Amino acid sequence: MTPATAMAVAATVEQARAAVGVLPRPLGFVPTMGALHPGHLALVAAARAECASVVASVFVNPAQFGPGEDFERYPRDYAGDRAKLEHAGASLLFAPESGAIYPPGYSTVIDVGPMGARYEGAVRPTHFRGVATVVSKLLNVVRPDVLYVGQKDAQQTAVLRKMVRDLDVPVRVQIVPTVREDDGVALSSRNVYLTAEQRAAAPTLHAMLRAFLGRLREGASGEAAAREARPVLSPLAQLDYLDLVDADTFEPLAALRSPAFAIAAVRFGNTRLLDNIWVAR
Ligand code: AMP
Repeated sequence: MTPATAMAVAATVEQARAAVGVLPRPLGFVPTMGALHPGHLALVAAARAECASVVASVFVNPAQFGPGEDFERYPRDYAGDRAKLEHAGASLLFAPESGAIYPPGYSTVIDVGPMGARYEGAVRPTHFRGVATVVSKLLNVVRPDVLYVGQKDAQQTAVLRKMVRDLDVPVRVQIVPTVREDDGVALSSRNVYLTAEQRAAAPTLHAMLRAFLGRLREGASGEAAAREARPVLSPLAQLDYLDLVDADTFEPLAALRSPAFAIAAVRFGNTRLLDNIWVAR
């Protein structure tokens, strides 16, 4: 379907504010780092279904990458992203340069506390501070009614929900289910880093999570379930963590209860893949 009106594009905070000002409300916002795939576009579709206008941002946020991580080689495809967003019916694309977000002398950061230091935060100590800070800035520019985030990055969604709650940000956070390939692998911009052999082994991440949750449902303790599910993971992958956590606090749970997430992160070579399963109430 072709969208009725052309998508506007903004590169500076001033341009974005002016463009947002004339958009019909309610306004949905989808922040991304680009290299868009159908997982990102599911967020745009969810926003379109509920909101009169959709703003998407594409910004590879240097503050959420640690030293030695993949900031430089993170996939970038501005022309493709722009075309996909226009086709998906976004009203505005905000694609700032780094200097528009972090001008010289920029120094303020948002630290969400212990939740941001566990799991992904233990492996990437400044990551969630970078995420919370940039999303807070983007929310102040776009001032949306609804913020759309993917369940695929479950800890990120918990961090952002906490930031919004703690700082009384006037926005509703809507979580969109993970979009997967047919073989169960969650779509991720980083999947392009995988070799053919690693990609073929990648479904074992989700399979391990399912085995873990299956054992928990049979009454196993978290520790026993993790030990028994671990061999399901391909030997090509290294396990960073496999655990059951409270959905709101991301504190580890010793036994099954809800709402919770079964979460896992693994490494295929230098490529980290995350996945989770939502354990509903
Ligand atoms: P990123 O560009 O990786 O920062 O992701 C931008 C947004 O898209 C985040 O809210 C992600 O959780 C979400 N997202 C990424 N991959 C998927 C997926 N496979 N399914 C649903 N949402 C996703």
